[in-house]
Amino acid sequence: MPTSYDLHCHSTASDGTLSPKALIQHAANQNVEVIALTDHDTVAGLDEARVEAQQQGIRLINGLELSVSWNNQTLHIVALGIDPQYPALRDGLNALQRYRQQRGEEIAARLEKRANIPGVLAGVTELAKGKLLSRTHFARFLLEQGHVKGMQEAFTRYLKRGKPGYVSSKWADFEEGLKWITDSGGQAVVAHPARYSMTATKRRKMLGEFIECGGVGLEVVSGSHSKGESHTMANLAKQLGLLASVGSDYHGPENRWVELGRLAPLPDGCTPIWHDWE
Ligand code: AMP
Ligand code: MN
Ligand code: MN
Ligand code: MN
Repeated sequence: MPTSYDLHCHSTASDGTLSPKALIQHAANQNVEVIALTDHDTVAGLDEARVEAQQQGIRLINGLELSVSWNNQTLHIVALGIDPQYPALRDGLNALQRYRQQRGEEIAARLEKRANIPGVLAGVTELAKGKLLSRTHFARFLLEQGHVKGMQEAFTRYLKRGKPGYVSSKWADFEEGLKWITDSGGQAVVAHPARYSMTATKRRKMLGEFIECGGVGLEVVSGSHSKGESHTMANLAKQLGLLASVGSDYHGPENRWVELGRLAPLPDGCTPIWHDWE
């Protein structure tokens, strides 16, 4: 049985800064034994990652982090073990990628008009290397151009709700997105559940619907969770019969707070999402 799992991370196929190949090499250096590459709304990095994972003797899980809307709120669903060729999933991801491009153009137009920042679209397109646009690319652009001193500030001053570059987003329908994942053979996991601004009551309501729609997992240990948050989520997973997942949400070496594979163990009593993996 492998002991080191990291089931949530990003490459340059979305908003990470390491290529899929470099990410897998880094995972090998960190002694990660099982890794899921979970780029936002794309599976484009998986082929390159798979080749390198074979080289390094690491197990790669085909993954993805799907953006969905639930009651006008954005949620992220980590999908594990999907079939990346599954037609409904592929079509859904294509639509999301087109939407991300339009939304990126809208964010750029707003920053140019409302915050008087020139050259945004060209700048972020360059940073994203023409691939999928995420707000992370906008934050990096604002940082590089000296408009902010850190990534966090880029979000709080420019990109969050109520700020000049904010565009309210309409992602995949919750139920439909979960169906793409489960029908393609994947396990759906609610990513970083402590990061959503919702009451505990609302979170339970959301998780009830998630389970009704075929969702099976909760990301109990996340690079973005405190120890206390992990324990809260572990208890919730146990109460609701959800499997527990772990993921750093690594985006590259620039972020000093999260390291690939360096995760706290699952709290006692959780059933790991990998308990019945072959
Ligand atoms: P998007 O899906 O395009 O809205 O971008 C969301 C991504 O932005 C997340 O996956 C994170 O990588 C990043 N992000 C969101 N909020 C923050 C924040 N406060 N600080 C740093 N990165 C953030
Ligand atoms: Mn991201
Ligand atoms: Mn996320
Ligand atoms: Mn993520």
